Amino acid sequence: MTVKKNPSIQEQLLDQRRDEMIAMIGHELRTPLTSIKGFTELLEKRAKTLKDQKILDYAFLMHIQTERLIQLVRDIMDTSKIRTGKLVLSKVPFDLNGLLTETVKSLQPLTKKHTIARKTSGRLVIFADRGRINQVITNLLTNAIKYSPGKSKIIVTIRQTDDKVIVSVQDFGIGINPNQKERIFDPFYQGSNRLELGRGLGPGLYISSQIVRLHHGRIWVESVVGKGSTFYFSLPL
Ligand code: ADP
Repeated sequence: MTVKKNPSIQEQLLDQRRDEMIAMIGHELRTPLTSIKGFTELLEKRAKTLKDQKILDYAFLMHIQTERLIQLVRDIMDTSKIRTGKLVLSKVPFDLNGLLTETVKSLQPLTKKHTIARKTSGRLVIFADRGRINQVITNLLTNAIKYSPGKSKIIVTIRQTDDKVIVSVQDFGIGINPNQKERIFDPFYQGSNRLELGRGLGPGLYISSQIVRLHHGRIWVESVVGKGSTFYFSLPL
């Protein structure tokens, strides 16, 4: 997506109208989707109680697909907010290790094959937007799951230096080509290494990089094709 340097008044009005439309459609879609997700979770619970494996499997798939749709709507709305400078942070002090525990707990049910190991120590209070940092960690972890089929280990590490905290998410999956490494943070970029199982639109890393940038942090990746990738992001303390 390219943003024109000097758009005309007409173009600006069209842009504004489009962003208003995106925001409106997003709101309209979110409510029914949240309700479908809630009922799918109830269905899963009921199938568990009734020990009906077939319904449980279907409900699990519905849960994952609904989650994907909700994520897609959120991503489109966030991309529009970034474009118009409306993505603002709401910073609070919170324990980063506590947040990581919660995030891992909420993602673990979505993958039966992967185990997410945590390498952290004690409480680490930072001043940041908790929801948005959760979004970055979730994006990196879901990518790690998506792009390491057939592998089981994912490692999340939190490290503290004098002036910053560094979070890393390591997978042992397909890896990223050196010439694609910079472009994966572009809006709606989809790498040629994408897998059928992980169909998405590709705004996740772009949004994550913008969230980290708004926190005055840095995001980067180290990767070897066929061996895996480690995504890092740092936040100033
Ligand atoms: P999406 O996964 O929906 O395409 P992202 O913005 O999260 O969107 O990722 C952009 C691209 O970066 C992906 O299409 C993929 O090519 C590459 N990528 C991201 N994370 C990984 C990873 N852990 N391993 C390999 N490739 C990755």
